[in-house]
Amino acid sequence: MESVTQEELKARLLKPLLRELKDGAQDRVVVGGLEALVENLARPFPEIRRLFQGYGEKPPEERRRALEAAIRLLQGEEAPDPPPPQARLAPEDSAHRLAPPQSRKKLSELGLRTVRDILHHYPRRYEDRRTLPGVRFLEDGKKATLQVKVLAKELTKTPRKGMQLVQVKAQDAWGWRLTLVWFNQPWVLSQIEVGSTLIVTGRVERRGGVRLFVEHFEDEGTESLSTGRIVPIYPAKEGISQAFLRRTVKRALEEALPLPDPIAPYREALGLWEYSEALRAIHFPEDEEALKRALLRLKFDEYLLLELKALLDAGGMVLGRAFRVEPSWVEEFQKSLPFPLTRAQRRVMEEIAKDMESPRQMARLLQGDVGSGKTVVAAFALFLAARNGAQGALMAPTEILARQHHQNLTRYLFPLGISVELLLGSMTAKEKEAATARLRSGEAQVAVGTHALIQEGVGFKDLGLAVVDEEHRFGVLQRRALLKLAKAPPDVLVMSATPIPRSLALTLYGDLEVSVLDEMPPGRTPVKTKVLPHRLRLQAYAFAREEVKKGHQVYVVAPAIEENEELDIRAATTLYEELKGLLPGVRLALLHGKMPAREKEEVMEAFRRGDYDLLVSTTVIEVGVDIPRATLIIVENAERFGLAQLHQLRGRVGRGGLEGYAIFIAGEASQKTLKRLKILEASTDGFYIAEMDLKLRGPGELRGTRQSGYPELRLGDLAEDTDIIEKARALAKRILEADPDLSRPEHQALRRELQAQAERVGFREVI
Ligand code: ADP
Ligand code: MG
Repeated sequence: MESVTQEELKARLLKPLLRELKDGAQDRVVVGGLEALVENLARPFPEIRRLFQGYGEKPPEERRRALEAAIRLLQGEEAPDPPPPQARLAPEDSAHRLAPPQSRKKLSELGLRTVRDILHHYPRRYEDRRTLPGVRFLEDGKKATLQVKVLAKELTKTPRKGMQLVQVKAQDAWGWRLTLVWFNQPWVLSQIEVGSTLIVTGRVERRGGVRLFVEHFEDEGTESLSTGRIVPIYPAKEGISQAFLRRTVKRALEEALPLPDPIAPYREALGLWEYSEALRAIHFPEDEEALKRALLRLKFDEYLLLELKALLDAGGMVLGRAFRVEPSWVEEFQKSLPFPLTRAQRRVMEEIAKDMESPRQMARLLQGDVGSGKTVVAAFALFLAARNGAQGALMAPTEILARQHHQNLTRYLFPLGISVELLLGSMTAKEKEAATARLRSGEAQVAVGTHALIQEGVGFKDLGLAVVDEEHRFGVLQRRALLKLAKAPPDVLVMSATPIPRSLALTLYGDLEVSVLDEMPPGRTPVKTKVLPHRLRLQAYAFAREEVKKGHQVYVVAPAIEENEELDIRAATTLYEELKGLLPGVRLALLHGKMPAREKEEVMEAFRRGDYDLLVSTTVIEVGVDIPRATLIIVENAERFGLAQLHQLRGRVGRGGLEGYAIFIAGEASQKTLKRLKILEASTDGFYIAEMDLKLRGPGELRGTRQSGYPELRLGDLAEDTDIIEKARALAKRILEADPDLSRPEHQALRRELQAQAERVGFREVI
């Protein structure tokens, strides 16, 4: 030892450490591991030895830190001045500051404008490259990812078919060789440099030599963010490499973190991970556990912002009017009904009564399957408003439905001394005037109508409650128009017969509280449902003939209007022609979406009167229409519909006390399709079916749920996250109740995130 000076020792130690750093801190530069070497050489430098304790077991990130610290110590005074500390970046700063000038365009191409955008550019998926196999361990026929060095490359043609073939000779870290193969992608040749290191994924063929049919490859680049760890794979575009994105994100994490935690005051009670930790781990997780925790935390944030936005959009916690609710009135209403209420109806009525009593504006969504008894509940709310001397309005999407509501509400409310006015576009000017006059004077307490309600000239003496029956959500603007007819913000009840899973209700309808009628009135027998493979479809029409003979009516639904050979969809029009031949003597009607609205209503009305036995239609027939003698619905190409939609369709039959039947014909009868449709044979629970639909088809497929102006979910998965959403919503409400405009100091970080999101969503809309 004496013969070696400390300086020489340092120099000797420095070399392998620098090599190790360059090699990506993988602990394979020194045989026997770096820790042993340091133990040996660094006897006089205990602080360096300490840095390398357990080196082999440490994650690469920590290894790198140890290496860098040791190198700094060893270089001591001779080290060049460290670069001046970079100005740390704020999330609002331009993303350009994270990339060299020639790469900045790439960031714009991905829509990444700020440092925050980069931090939130979450990986699409991950690859576990903590231990990549060597060539020797590859199994024939299996898929594998490994790291190799390029030795040579060439472009050739296959002898028989003349396909272009890129072949690259490469070797792994142990010197074992293999050939990488690309078919018909000649451009790959120019993307690969001899001497560079690649991460390649593909299928292995071991026959004599080892070949890998490459499906995906990356140039490893200089920094080793691509191996020895769980590696993020980012959403990218052509010409934007994963290595570049990893580097950029890494820099963003280094330069912008730690950030103040937007939910600092609430985080611990919720058992959530710290914000900056979570951001780090979502990009470069140490292990699966860390990834899980990061995901949970950042999903929570995503939903929290969504809920805050929804609640703020809804006017936050707007003051409306506080109605009086006397227990005797509730009793009076119940007594006037010809049937006892279901438990669900009583529960929902209580929820509504509480909302109406509160000085806050009611904004509630009433969900329930067709036939669950929503109309009675709406009648109750209208009744309460009337007892308070206020008026109510119910708006329906079509005239048929408005008429039906008018009839039913009159049946419930007239005995209680409340008069119900009908207002339709098809009424004569004189009729309309008379109705309007009664509403203006306050003589009529309830108005039922179509959008005629919000046309010029309609007015109320004192509108206090607006009920909107909307099958799906394109009524938002009309809803607003209806609210404008009131002097003070009226209470709002939205009714929907589309059962949607709670997670969707809480996000897409986040500006509304949700009440659910999850119980059917007694005596309703569920619609008997049968799924038929296509080859047996004529059986369905034989059954239809039987039903018609009994004086019953039949719906036949087809998914498109005109024949589309390519998709082999039985269009309504051709089906109509076919059935004419198949069912002589049966009176057929045709209804489809391309008919003028008036004509549609006329056909529907005629069917309702019983002028026709069988109605062939696309899905334009409204869900809520009551046609008591309709007992059978046949859906062609049922696989083209969502389960929730099919469930709604079958809700149209068996409403008049007669047994109802649904036959779903699977045009393309794969086992998977049949299995999906069979869920409808097994269950009549609309909410269960909607959940299954969401799981099987995803939220984008659910009808009427698409909505603009709301941020897309980046991490969230509506099929999985109901619990997280509930918690996020609860916190959003708590925060806004205490601090309606987010002005408190502890909410400033949250407020900034919310603003940033609004800008981002706005930005997208402009594009
Ligand atoms: P929805 O609007 O939810 O489709 P409706 O309010 O039209 O349902 O009710 C469907 C049918 O069930 C109506 O004929 C109604 O009179 C009846 N009904 C509603 N509630 C009850 C109940 N609690 N018991 C028995 N019948 C009920
Ligand atoms: Mg109804």
